[in-house]
Order: sequence, then structure tokens, then C-alpha cells
Amino acid sequence: MDFNIGIEDVGVALLQELWNRVTLQAMELVGETQDVVLAKDSFQEFSGSISQLIGILQAMDARKVAAELGSEFTKTTLQKLNSQLHLACDVIEDCRSGSRLRLILRSSRVLAQMQELAKEIAETISSFQLVNLSIGLSVKTMIAHIINNLRSMEFQSSTVIERISVEIENSINQDRKNHDNAVRLLEKIAEAVGASENTSLVQQELAILKQEKEEMEAQKKQAEALQLSQLIQLLYSTEIVTRPVDDNTNIRHHYYPIDAFLCPLSHVLMTEPVAILCGHSFEKKAIQEHFERGVTVCPTCKEELPSLDITPNLSLRGSIQEWKQRDMDLKFQAAIQGINSDEESTQNGALQEMKSLLGTPLYAAKFSEENLIPKLVGFLKNKRLHTAAALKCLSCLARHSEDCKASIVEAGAIHLVVKHLYKSEVGQDAIAVLLELSSREAIAEEIGKAKNSIPLFVSMLHYWEGDVSEKAHKVLQNLSFNTHFVVKMAECGYFRPFVCRFNEGSQETRALMAAALVQMQLKETNVIDLKNDSFIHSLVEMLSSTSPAYKSACLQAIKKLLAHSAISKQLLADPMTIPLLLSLISHVMSDPYLKEEAVDVLAFLVRATEHCDFQIFQGLKELQSEHSISLLLHLISTSETQATIKILQLLVELSHKSEQARELIRFNDDAIAHLYSCLETGQPAVRRWAMELVYSISDGHLGGVPLPPTPRKEAVIHTIASILTHSPDPEERSVAAGIISQLPKDDTTIDDLLLKSDVLKAIHEIICTVDMESNQAQTVPNSGELLLENALAALLRYTEPSKIDLQKRVAKLELYPSLIRVLSNQSSLAKQRAAIALAHLSQSTSLSFSRATVIPTADRKAAPLSQLLNLFPNFSWCCSTSEIGSLCSVHGSACSSKDTFCLVKTDAMMPLMKSLKGTDPGVQEAALMALETLLTDDRTLSQASAAIVDNHGIDSLLYVLEKGSQSAKPKALDLFEKILSHTNLTDSSFPRIEGVLIQLLHEDVHRKKAALVLRQMKVIPEQSSYF
Ligand SMILES: [Zn+2]
Ligand SMILES: [Zn+2]
Repeated sequence: MDFNIGIEDVGVALLQELWNRVTLQAMELVGETQDVVLAKDSFQEFSGSISQLIGILQAMDARKVAAELGSEFTKTTLQKLNSQLHLACDVIEDCRSGSRLRLILRSSRVLAQMQELAKEIAETISSFQLVNLSIGLSVKTMIAHIINNLRSMEFQSSTVIERISVEIENSINQDRKNHDNAVRLLEKIAEAVGASENTSLVQQELAILKQEKEEMEAQKKQAEALQLSQLIQLLYSTEIVTRPVDDNTNIRHHYYPIDAFLCPLSHVLMTEPVAILCGHSFEKKAIQEHFERGVTVCPTCKEELPSLDITPNLSLRGSIQEWKQRDMDLKFQAAIQGINSDEESTQNGALQEMKSLLGTPLYAAKFSEENLIPKLVGFLKNKRLHTAAALKCLSCLARHSEDCKASIVEAGAIHLVVKHLYKSEVGQDAIAVLLELSSREAIAEEIGKAKNSIPLFVSMLHYWEGDVSEKAHKVLQNLSFNTHFVVKMAECGYFRPFVCRFNEGSQETRALMAAALVQMQLKETNVIDLKNDSFIHSLVEMLSSTSPAYKSACLQAIKKLLAHSAISKQLLADPMTIPLLLSLISHVMSDPYLKEEAVDVLAFLVRATEHCDFQIFQGLKELQSEHSISLLLHLISTSETQATIKILQLLVELSHKSEQARELIRFNDDAIAHLYSCLETGQPAVRRWAMELVYSISDGHLGGVPLPPTPRKEAVIHTIASILTHSPDPEERSVAAGIISQLPKDDTTIDDLLLKSDVLKAIHEIICTVDMESNQAQTVPNSGELLLENALAALLRYTEPSKIDLQKRVAKLELYPSLIRVLSNQSSLAKQRAAIALAHLSQSTSLSFSRATVIPTADRKAAPLSQLLNLFPNFSWCCSTSEIGSLCSVHGSACSSKDTFCLVKTDAMMPLMKSLKGTDPGVQEAALMALETLLTDDRTLSQASAAIVDNHGIDSLLYVLEKGSQSAKPKALDLFEKILSHTNLTDSSFPRIEGVLIQLLHEDVHRKKAALVLRQMKVIPEQSSYF
């Protein structure tokens, strides 16, 4: 029994102890409520009830209660009550010690918490069932009263506090703290919390807030830390206390987005938060991917989800957006401060931050309101500052408003930005600024005028990466309203804006631009841009302008462009070009200089055409018409010297290109007569071009040189001959030789005239001189080459086999060694003509052989030399007499006579064979022609064949058959056939010949002849399908 009592005593003692603790806790709570500043009435009421509770607790005996209600129940209930009282103490303590500002903001939450606690305490007391105890009625009544009071208690903040709380809320959300508002707010707060608004209050609040903020940051409670830093800003904005220089509250804040805003899966700030069935939220894409992997539990709470439905968490999204906005506001304020600071490192940090913020129009507007643009532009001068970021800021500002653009320009940015553009590392940002600025014409004007800006932009089109060159392109486009700029661009090689401006411009603008074009360097790549139908048409159209200056500029420009074949085609294709030029020429009132230029342009144009163009282009058809040609021919006799020369040049070009024009000129007797009179009396250049025209209408024409009737004819030939023999100008002599070569062949009076002149002597001299010159120097001057070619052409008139008298003259001159040398070292045309001359001479010798005594074929070889010696009694063609004693292998001693010309004897065989192996078909054919003359006499056929074979003739002929021209091949085959029929081929050469001939069987045009030779070689049978 005693033992039991002992145990019971211990239990009761512990219970009593707990009872006392609850009483003490209640007393502490009452003490706390005394200093509470908000909802004072509610707290006092609460405090009153708790005080009453203390009185009751003190009046009661724990032992007695435990005896009646059971010690275990009593203990649990007391513990519960104790913890509730303790919690209430904490809440009130928290209110008292913290910042008043923050308390006001949190007031509604705190009061709600208190109300909840009061109710809970009431429930605990009522569950104690003290009413059931045997205690006095008055006590019971009091307990009931306390319970009732606590249950019905409403913790309500005053409307003043509520309003202030809203005001604080609004105020800290504003991105710019208004000083007056903040002060007024502070007054209200002070009044509401019963303090005086002064420096110490603000400083005290600041100290508390900063401390709390650090605690929150340490605990990673980012939302709370953010709110605290906003409150700190609010206090600073009252300007009652000065902001410390190193206060970087704002700058630091943004590193910490609130945890709840981060997606638990992707750990980035959510942009599209969605909630899943358990209530947790994630970024939409992340949770979808999570589900797609087949996982059906919540990544956060691991709860198995009955459905994978997601719903947008709109309120969270709103909060995140709000937070972001607030975050940006703070960053912006900090960046403004940074830019205003004097520290370069701070300025750099601020620039980096600002460059992304200014993309938002609101911030750009605020930045400009702060009047910071001049400062920002000034940053460009400081190499230590982050100029790329400053440039980026400037381009955002310029984009934002016209006012910003103006301020940027006023601050002198253009010059600085262009300077920065040279540095490739910030080119991207610099060009972006200029692009924004240049959208305004007045500013674009400034940009275009900035030193070297346009060449720089143009160079950027080609040498920079895509984005930059695209921007440079747009800047140039913005500058294109100004003609001078456009011209400058073209001068730098960028022609597209030039073409556009020209097409849209007035006559005056066009004239200015055309004049500028004449001064420019044109590359083939530029020409592609100029090759534009409307550009060409606009240019041509200027020819119809009334201003001579405009016309002149246009003519010069066209002349310049004609150097490029693509453009000359374009000019030809424009139907207005030639008619307008012709009308300019025909118009009596036209300025002589313009006429001259127009003729010059036409000559350029014709030079650029091809023969077929005259059938295609309407303008050219008109130019070669009878009307145009007679107009031009008429002008020769009526114009000034310079104009006459130009017209003659044009007619020369026309007669080269148009057969019709050539005929029209030839048939104009008056014009021809005038041309010849120019030769006699004209000024040297006029004479020279009149001769060119005569030559070009005669060269290759069946009728040869058109000559006036006797006696003018004789006079004309005399004049031309004396020019060839006496002129000091090699070019003039060359044309004269050309004309002589084209004199009508069948007119014997001309031959007589030539015989009387020194023309042949002059030709001989030219051939020998040039031949000697070319031995001295490898390169033959062009005029010399042409002179030689034409002299050789003239010589051919004298070597004609039908004109014995003339040939005899040639023979006397002994110029064959020079001719043979021409074969080996002159131009193709000279070689060809020399070979033809040799063929002519050799042919005459063969003809005279044929006329001589016929020796029976069988006795040919045995024919005594004495017999041959007298073969050519009437023929005075000569060979060198120095080789007497060595007999000709073909003609025997007959050749050594002075009367014969022999290819073998004069060592022409090897040069001729070499000529066969050349690339020029004309030379090949002429050489074949010369060789053929050896094979015309049946009596000497086998000797001649042997001579050809001995001089590697087979090899040379095979070369022609393999690689020669189509026209040379049949001649070569004919020769081959003759040679084979008189020569025994060596076994070694047989397979090669066979191969080449069989190859020819595949070519339709040569098949039959090749087959005949093969039959002769007994390679194919007598009866073959090839015949
Ligand atoms: Zn969950
Ligand atoms: Zn001979």
C-alpha cells in the first residue's frame, strides 16, 4: 500500500509540475501581448481571457483534477495546452521583434494565425471538462466565459493598417520609388504603429530588415528575401537616410529565383507550369517527357498517379511572371545606378545588364528619360569599357524611338560608331546601331557623310559573315536616297543602288550619274549589275534629251559600257539605241562634237557585234539600210576632219560585219570617187582611213577593188602604188599592199600599170626586210606582221601562173629563199601565202615541163641529161646557179637551169613538210597545193614521189590524215594515192598507213577515197561495198 502511495505521489508531483508550467506559459503570453502594436484591442481581449485562465489554473489543484479525470488524460491535455500557449507566444514574439513594416505587410496572416490559435486553446480548455469537476459554480461560469470568449474572438487589424499594407505592396511593386509617396507612407506607418517618423525609426527598420534578409537568404527563402530587399529599397527612397554606396541589394537579388518557381525536374524557371494529379507542379515539357519514359509516379512525392492528366497552373504562372517582372525592375534600377557610378568595373557590369534590358520598350523609355544617352555614347571613347555592350544598348535605344535616335546623333555617336566599325570585333554591334539610325533620312545623310563610311559598308558586303553583311546591305539601302552616296557606292564596286536610283531619277540626276559612271573603274562583276534592261533603256532614253550636256554624258557612259560585251548586246537589243544615235548624227543642228561622239559610239557598237546580229537586231538592220549608209557616205564629204575620220572608222567596222553595207558602199560611185580623192589630197588620218575603207570593201570580194573608169583608174592605182613605195608609215603601206592584192585580177591594164611601177620592188624589199628582222629578233611587231602578210598577198598577183610576164619579174628578184624562210618562222597567214606563192611558181615549172618534149615513161630514168637541158627554151625562171654539178633528183640537170623553179632544188621540201604538221588548216592546204605541183607531170611522177618519201612526206601526210582539217584530208588522200602508185612502201611503214586509212573509212566524206587507196595497197578486194 505504501509502495503504491509512493508511486502515485511521484505521478502527481510530475503532473503538478506540468500544471505549473502551463500557468507560467500563460503568464508569459499575457506579458508578450502588452507591447503588440497592431490590432491592440484584439490582443488585449485575448490577453484578458488568458489572465482569467491563469487565475483558474492557480486556484485548482492538479492532484484533485487528476483524481477525477484520470492522470493520463490530464497529462495529455495539459501538454496540448502548453504547446498551444507556447505557439501563441512565438507568433507574438515574432511580431514584436521584427520590422514594423514587414509586420504591417504580414498583419493579416499573423492575425489569422492568432485567431486560429485562440479557437484551438478554447477547444483544449473545453475538452478538459473542468466544468464536470466538483468545483464552485462561479469558477465553472468563469471557465465557460473564457471558452466562449476565445471561441468567438476575432483578430482584426484596423482599416488603416490594411490600407497601409496595400499601399506598401503597391509602392514596392513600382519600379521607380517616388520619394514623396514613400515619405507619406512612412508617416502613416509611424502613426499606425504608434512611433514617430524619424531617422532613428528608419535606421532601426533598415537594420532589422537587412538582418532578416540575410537570415532568409541563408535559409534560401528567396521569396521572403526578395520582399525584404524591396522594403529596404522603399525605405531608401524616402531619402530620410542616405543609401550606402556599396549597397548592392538589388544587384544580388536576382541570383535567387524562388524555389517554387523552379521546375523540380529541369531546375529552370518555369514558363509553362502545369499541375499533376497529386497537386505538384512542373514545367510542361519536362513532366511530359517524364511521363513519356513510362514513369507514373510523381517525381516529388513519389505518389502513384491514377491518371497522367496535366492542368495549367495559371496562378503559379502568374506569380512567376510577376516575379520576373519585379526581378527585371530591380536589375534595371541597379544597372542605372551602375552606369551613373564612376567605377569602370561597375559601369561594365551595368552595361552588360542593360544591353538585355533595353530591348524592353519601357526600360528604353526610362533610360532616355534619365538623360543617360550622352553618357552612354561617351562610353564609346573609353577603350577599357565594354563598347560592344554599349553599342548594343544604343541600337536598342535607337530602335525604341525617334527621340532616342536624335539624342544619340546629337551626342556625336555616328563618328564614334563608324570608327568602331573598323574594329572587326564590334562590327556586328556597330552596324546594328547604324542600321537603326539610318532609318531616318536626316540621320542617314550624316552617316553617308561620315568619313569613309560608304567604302566601309560596301566592303562589309563581301568580307563579313551573313548577318553583318545583311545589315550593311540594309544600311546602304537606307542611304540610297542620296545620289552622291549611290555614286560613292558604285565607285566602291557596289552598283545595285546606283542602277535603282538611276532608273527612278530625273533627267538631271541621270546625267549626273552617267557622268560619274564614266569616271569609274568597271569590273566584270559590276557589269552584271549594270546589265539591267531598264537601266540601259533609261540611259539610251537620255539621247533624246534636249540638253546637249545630258546627251554628252549619256554618250560617254554608253561608250564606257560598250567595252563589255554583255552590255553591248543589251544596248543592241534596245530598239531605241541605234535610231536615237542615227537621229543625233543626221540632225543638222546637232553639236558637231555630239555627232562625232555618236558616230564613235556606233563604231564601238558595231565592233562588238557578230555577223549574225545584223539579222537579229532591228537597230542594226536600220544601220545597214540604204538610207543610213548613204547618210554616212554623204557625211564623209561634208563633215569636219575629226568627224570624217570617225565616220570612216564606223564604215570600216560596218563593212567588216555587214555584207549588205559593203555592197551599198561599193555601189555608191560618188562616195567611191570621194574616197579616192581623199587618198590624193586628204589629211593623213583621213587618207589612212579612206584606204582602210577601200580595203575592207574589197578584201575577199569577187569584184575586187571598185575602181573608177579610166583615166581616174590609172591615177588611183598610181596613187596607191606610190603610197606603198614611198609612205613612211608601215600601217599605211600595209593597207596599200592589201588594196593592191585585191585589184581586179582579169584587168590587164592593171598588170601593165603594175609592171611600170616599183610595187614589186617594194614587196620584195618588205619580204626580205621583215624576214631579216625576224631573224634578229624573235618578236615581230604587229604592224610588221600585217605588212608582210599584205605584201605576200600582193605578191600572189605577180605569181599567178597565168601571168607569165609578171612571174618573170618575180623570178629576177630571186626572193625564194626569203619565201621559204617565211614558211618556217612567220604568222600562219604569211606562211599560207608564201606556200601559195611557191605553189604558183612550181606549177609554172611543171606546166612548162608538160609543154616540153614528151619522153616515154619507160625511159624516164634513163633519159640523158642533155635531153632535159633544153626542155625550157622560152622560160626564164631561175634557180640558184651556185649548185651546178649536183643534179635534181626529180628533174635531173634540167632543174639547174636558170629557167626553172624547183621545190626540191630550192630546199623547200622540208619546210613544206613541217608546214603540214602545223595546226593552221590554211597553211596545210597551201603546202599540199605546193607539193601537188611536183606530181602533175607523169614523166617525173616516180622521181617526185621518191623525193617526197625521202623528205618524210609519208609521215607528214599521215599527220594531215589523222589530225588535219576536213578540207585538207581529201587533198592529202589524192597525193597519197599518187605517191603510193609510184613507190614501193617499206614493210615498216605499211601497218601505220593501213591503220590511218582504215580509220578514215569511218568518216563518210573520206570513205570512198580511203577505200580506193586501200584497194591500191591490196588491203581490201577489188569488189568492195566501200565503192
Ligand atoms: Zn506529388
Ligand atoms: Zn627539180
